[in-house]
This record gives sequence, structure tokens and C-alpha cells, in this order.
Amino acid sequence: MIEPLGKFNPLSGYLIDIEGVLVRDKRYLPIPGSVEWLNHLADGETPFCLVSNNTTDRPQDLIAKLNEVGFQLEIKHLVGVLELAVQWLRVREKKRILWLGSPQLTDFWVEEGFVPNSIEDCQTVVLGVNPRLEVADMDQALGPLLEQGADLLCLHRNSFYLDGKGRRRLGPGAWAGAFEALGGDGQVVTVGKPDEKIYKEALKRLGILPEKALFVSDDPVADLVTAGRMGMRTAFVLSGKYPDHAVLGRLDQEDWPDIVCSCPADMDI
Ligand SMILES: [Mg+2]
Repeated sequence: MIEPLGKFNPLSGYLIDIEGVLVRDKRYLPIPGSVEWLNHLADGETPFCLVSNNTTDRPQDLIAKLNEVGFQLEIKHLVGVLELAVQWLRVREKKRILWLGSPQLTDFWVEEGFVPNSIEDCQTVVLGVNPRLEVADMDQALGPLLEQGADLLCLHRNSFYLDGKGRRRLGPGAWAGAFEALGGDGQVVTVGKPDEKIYKEALKRLGILPEKALFVSDDPVADLVTAGRMGMRTAFVLSGKYPDHAVLGRLDQEDWPDIVCSCPADMDI
């Protein structure tokens, strides 16, 4: 049974994962009840934001796709990894990157002032989801990482994701592990979940303390462990990656979520 979390310690804000919580997967079909649930939040007083590891859509396109299927969202609601990666690179003046993520986003990097196909003079290898990534593409990163001291910037390190046909596909975490094993001289940095950076950015955006936040996700391992350790309350929904709570067996009990429920609309909050 779900505990009424808000009863004694009211929530001041919600941090919400997208895939597996609002929509099923990259087909962007809403999970039953989630449009009404999110729009009810949007109509209320409690602030919320989407905390997304999405690396395949420009921020505005992602919000447009969610609007199309009925979610009342604006760009201000999105705290995404592309935004954080741009910030990270700009602060360090790393313009010449090797983008190994989705080719659809190559223009995004150009528009943001980066040179996304740098190899000889590459400063940072950037990883995102790319279902068409081939070994030959990854080979291009060997020189930069092994000889040029390039950094490895992982938009996230999810080991797999569900593609547009609902199939499990290896994700940037798998490639990052292989590249990290090379032992290059550059930094290895992750900006997305489960790294704390994106959670801190989301809390800052909402202006709330972690103890007053609820993080809702379909991934208790990659998303909720960090949220819980930062002091947030956590809700694991079974509407995405995992159809039951067996995955919790991989976690120490202190990292288990506060709530487990079938979908966001079933949360008693
Ligand atoms: Mg998810």
C-alpha cells in the first residue's frame, strides 16, 4: 500500500522522469492516466520539472512531442542533459568535440557554437544514445582519447534504453565503460542521471530543498538511488523499464524507493 507521503511532511516540488513515467518509450505514447496526472500538477501550485536523460531530441522538439500527445508543458519545465552538456563544455571552452550520439543532433551542436565532427583536434568525445553507432564510429575516438588527452563527456551512462519499437538497445553506459577502460589522460564526466549534477540543477530550478522533493521514475537503479541518497523521497513506477519490483533485489535495502506503484496516476499524493 502506498503511504500518503504528503501528510506530515508536505512536498514542495516534483522531479519527474519522462520515458517510462509520462510516455512509454521513444514512440511517445502516453502511459494511461499520465496526461491527466501531469496536467493536474501543471494546474496546481506545486512546482515540478522534468529531469531527462534524453539525448535524441532537441529540448524544444522534446517538449513539442509531449505537447502533441496532450501534456501541458513548456520549455521551462525541462532540465535536460543537452543543456547541462552545453554548459559544461562552454565553461571549459571546449568547442571541438566528437559527437557520437544521434546524427539528428549534429546540427544542434553547430547551432550552439560547437564543431561536432572534430577528430585530429578533438577536445572532448561526447556520448549520447545512437542506435546506429558502429564500431568504426567508435574507433574515431581512440586517437583523441589515447593520444590527445581528450575528455569523455557522457550525457548519461544508462547501459540500455527502449528504442522506437520498444526494443532494448545498448546505451551510452556500455560505450562509456569500453572507452574508460582505455585509461586515457582526459577526464571522464557524466552530466545526466545518476550523476548528482542534473538533480542539483533541477532542485535549483525549482528553488527547493531535496528533503521536500519527490523524484518519480521507472528506473530505481539509474535514477532513484542518487535521488534518495541526496535526501529526496522517491517513487518507482512500474510503467516503464521494469514490469515488477524484482529489480530492487539488485539494490541495498536502504536504497529502495519510498513508493512502488504501477504508474504515476496511481500515486496517492
Ligand atoms: Mg525512464
